[in-house]
Amino acid sequence: MKKSIIFLIISLFFKLSGIAGEGMWIPMLLEQLNEKEMKAMGMNITAEDIYSINHSSLKDAIVLFGRGCTAEIISDKGLLLTNHHCGFGAIQRHSSIENDYLTDGFWAMNQDEELPNPGLTVTLMVRMEEVTNQVLEGVEPNMSEADRDEKIKENSDKIIEAFEKDSEYQAAIKPFFKGNAFYMIITETFKDVRLVGAPPSNIGKFGGDTDNWMWPRHTGDFSIFRIYTDKDGKPAEYSEDNIPYKPKYHFPISLKGVDEGDFTFVFGYPARTNEYLPSYAVEMITESGNPHKIKLRETRLDIFNKYASADPKVRIQYASKDARVANYWKKMIGESSGIERLDGIEKKQAYEAEFNEWANSSEELKKQYGNLIPAFETAYEQLEPISLATDYIAEAGLAMEIVSFARNFSGLVEMSKADEIDEEAIQQEIESLKRRTSGFFKDYYQPIDEEVMTAMLKLYDENLTPPFKPDFFNTIHSKYKNNYQDYTNYVFSKSIFDNEDALNELLDNYKPKKYKKLVKDPAYLMASEMMDFYDADIKTKRNLLNHELDSLQRIYMKAQMEMEPEKRFYPDANFTLRVTYGYVDGYHPKDAVYYKHFTTLEGIMEKEDPDIYDYVVEDRLKELYQNKDYGQYADEDGNMHVAFVASNHTTGGNSGSPVLNADGELVGVNFDRCWEGTMSDLMYDPEVCRNISIDIRYFLFIVDKFAGAGYLVEEMDLVK
Ligand code: ASP
Repeated sequence: MKKSIIFLIISLFFKLSGIAGEGMWIPMLLEQLNEKEMKAMGMNITAEDIYSINHSSLKDAIVLFGRGCTAEIISDKGLLLTNHHCGFGAIQRHSSIENDYLTDGFWAMNQDEELPNPGLTVTLMVRMEEVTNQVLEGVEPNMSEADRDEKIKENSDKIIEAFEKDSEYQAAIKPFFKGNAFYMIITETFKDVRLVGAPPSNIGKFGGDTDNWMWPRHTGDFSIFRIYTDKDGKPAEYSEDNIPYKPKYHFPISLKGVDEGDFTFVFGYPARTNEYLPSYAVEMITESGNPHKIKLRETRLDIFNKYASADPKVRIQYASKDARVANYWKKMIGESSGIERLDGIEKKQAYEAEFNEWANSSEELKKQYGNLIPAFETAYEQLEPISLATDYIAEAGLAMEIVSFARNFSGLVEMSKADEIDEEAIQQEIESLKRRTSGFFKDYYQPIDEEVMTAMLKLYDENLTPPFKPDFFNTIHSKYKNNYQDYTNYVFSKSIFDNEDALNELLDNYKPKKYKKLVKDPAYLMASEMMDFYDADIKTKRNLLNHELDSLQRIYMKAQMEMEPEKRFYPDANFTLRVTYGYVDGYHPKDAVYYKHFTTLEGIMEKEDPDIYDYVVEDRLKELYQNKDYGQYADEDGNMHVAFVASNHTTGGNSGSPVLNADGELVGVNFDRCWEGTMSDLMYDPEVCRNISIDIRYFLFIVDKFAGAGYLVEEMDLVK
């Protein structure tokens, strides 16, 4: 694929004009807002091909996977492709020391071997409709924020109820543009989703957390699932009699690869962005919240790693937890430094100065918007300590596993204290707690938790002033003279929440009056003191401020759109289906350095290190590499391409999203962003914001050549 001169010129034009890249667009508005630009950038299909309510379109092959990822359908038998890190929880749950699918990979060699995953669902968007006017009916401009919310909820419930009454589908209404617009999203949720294949971690997680959020990248971050339905093709709970889903559409897969300057688009479920925040908010996030959370997570990760590298069982137990903590730890580092490098706060301030000038340019505007920016300043000043206190509860308090686990027992305690005892409800609660208990201890290693507790208490105590700390710190100060270790020893020696047998024994023989034993337990006490403190001292203030900020945000959004009527605004991500588009493109991460747009198997061999878990390369992969046995999956340059970067504007939730070429064929699977660009959730910079995708040919190569699961490739439609 040689790019033409014209193409280069066009792409240069869009790059220079700063258009390419930024934006997460609403599928049903593409025709109106984006189609022309997408075509000018190289797209050969139409907006109607991407999203249509009249016939099958690309959107019919995209699902929200679980609660936080995207996946795409790649065969007429409901085969589903997503990231390894999205399937990680499911893969881990099927793994044990004997069947270590995390380490060794898993491949069902026929449909009977596919593994069910209770609780895992995928959701397909059937269509969307704008319902702003209906939702805002009866909402008055001078209403309090709480009344407004209530009215909106009341209207929304009515609309949803009316829709669902005559429909087999589900509906939800979501705010867009900070509550200035509303759309009803109509969906269908599938409940029988089975694991079909996953590469070993040294492919699916190659480079681990060292390479996470970084380019150049060599991770084969994919896993394969399959949707099953009942005999009529309708969503159903798991049953042996279920059949593979027959989708309305599935993606053809291109073997042509990508070249620098190629148009690509990503179609998926971005979770949350905040592109329209005032400078005060960006400052609070990047200069206060992030640094504290980074330190807390770093401390925890060091402890995890110390134990995990010494014991393979602990490594499996803590694999998911470690990945979760490490992921946003690194993201926050990238985000804060990205904003700094971009002078993000100063840029926002300059914009606000411009805004203020406009907002004060007439009496009419002044009345509506004149006080907006100062109001933001006051509100964020008040929010900062409250927000930090909340962060410490989540990131230090609940990081103590024994404490967050004990918190689950508060329901049982409440039921047991009630004037009228509901025996049946208590019995049900006990059953559910027993299941939780066994789940908790499967992945629990007490020495880690003890060390984490001592470390968390110390940081918590040192970094917050008294009004922002729960009561147990009084005990730590007075009785334990700030010796966090001693206090931890006391908690662990007295609590039963680190003892599976004792806990089961209590649950097996539970009588309501035994709740006294629970409420005296030191871990339970810590949990309840922390939650009481949150309820009494934090929650109300926080809600009040957030309400005020919601209202300010909404007005600010509307005002910005009014100030720049020619500008095409896109709504912040809100976990609804979006399209973003850009070019395959390398970038300059720092002075004098240029990163090319793709990586190859060669690079995997360069990174190989048999002594480091994340950089082990399997013999089978080496053999394929040595024999250049790439089959039809090699690039025309003869190499095996592994991953590529492009200027598509993505965020968390876009993981697993299809990356499509100008013809709408699958060329990659999105799985990450590069570190220099992770501030794109707050501010996008076309120079360095890049999404990272697996080259779809590497995925095919691993399935076919490495795993010998070529029968899966036969299900797919390959385009040469
Ligand atoms: N890795 C992210 C995800 O899981 C994607 C991103 O944040 O760019 O969705």
